[in-house]
Amino acid sequence: MADRIFLSAPHMSGNEQKYINEAFETNWIAPLGPNVNAFEEELASYAGTKGAAALSSGTAAIHLALDLLEVRKGDTVFCSSLTFIASANPIVYLGAEPVFIDSEPETWNMSPVALERAFRDAEATGQLPKAVVVVNLYGQSAKMDELNEICDRYGVPVVEDAAESLGSTYKGQKSGTFGKFGVYSFNGNKIITTSGGGMLVSNDIEELKRARFLATQARDQAKHYQHSVVGYNYRMSNILAGVGRAQLEVLDQRVEAKRAVFERYVEGLGDIEGLEFMPELEGTISNRWLSVITLDPDKIKVAPYALIDALDAENIEARPVWKPLHIQPVFEGKKFFAHDESDVVSERLFATGVCLPSGTAMTLEEQKRVIEFIRKQIKPL
Ligand SMILES: *Cc1c(COP(=O)(O)O)cnc(C)c1O
Repeated sequence: MADRIFLSAPHMSGNEQKYINEAFETNWIAPLGPNVNAFEEELASYAGTKGAAALSSGTAAIHLALDLLEVRKGDTVFCSSLTFIASANPIVYLGAEPVFIDSEPETWNMSPVALERAFRDAEATGQLPKAVVVVNLYGQSAKMDELNEICDRYGVPVVEDAAESLGSTYKGQKSGTFGKFGVYSFNGNKIITTSGGGMLVSNDIEELKRARFLATQARDQAKHYQHSVVGYNYRMSNILAGVGRAQLEVLDQRVEAKRAVFERYVEGLGDIEGLEFMPELEGTISNRWLSVITLDPDKIKVAPYALIDALDAENIEARPVWKPLHIQPVFEGKKFFAHDESDVVSERLFATGVCLPSGTAMTLEEQKRVIEFIRKQIKPL
């Protein structure tokens, strides 16, 4: 059988070992050191924010952002529904209640219409959310102007979960820089990886200092370990930050490569009636972290799950679109606001979507294998 083609495998630049060796030679084998400081500066400079804090995961970055915004027990936080569960879990860690907001069709991200409705409902019940977590799915930026306008009007801060959209832009500005805080992830399948890691970015240097303080067990200025608040062990290792620095050097190349993968899918599959591609909103550039298609059940006989299973049997990894959080068993009974009551966009995308292999190290031959197999499977009615 042919080698397995993965959804989004790590792709090293070749320079990682240099930074790792430096860490070893200087014995900075710790969750602090020159690579951590340099990675923070280099990423902040890339994103165009005043600063960045390197952390052990993207989830940790969301957790710290919400903690810094003083999300506490009994509070509510609005969150995109169509996303990976890591966007919402930290809300629960802090004892707060998530309220889920549907997607809209042009970006697949948070619907400003649904968000407005959620705010009106919150106002009527006398409890505004402490924060809004806006996710940029599969590299596509959400409608940040519209969402920020609403959040500003209600005076509620935005945490931009850009775990999947590092390198993307919205109206020329880097994705992840539109909220009070932005979050990136360097998990193994993300566009660049440190094997595991995350970054919190902001223009508020004081808040980032506080983030680093909380991320190192919240030690007060004292020789004898003294603590006045509860902290976390969330800093990034100096070795992994070295991997991150080398990966960041090739980020723009990776964006180009991801976009080229997407273009080849459009060339190879774009003529199939009922097969649509994830849109790219005008004025935005998506990093196309994953190439995603939808299959119209009225025009295509094969269901998304059947296609994914068939691909798997061919040693090709494909996945459904994220299962919306408002229909996850763990979040049963949580409030949800639809884009349109007669068309829950996130549920429709879950029911029809397929994420295709999108690795930047995937060869042309491998992608041809994927395209040809999909063409064979999808027989028009
Ligand atoms: C990957 C991801 C995260 C979490 O990042 P980790 O580094 O794996 O903790 C959060 N949100 C979204 C949308 C993600 O895709």
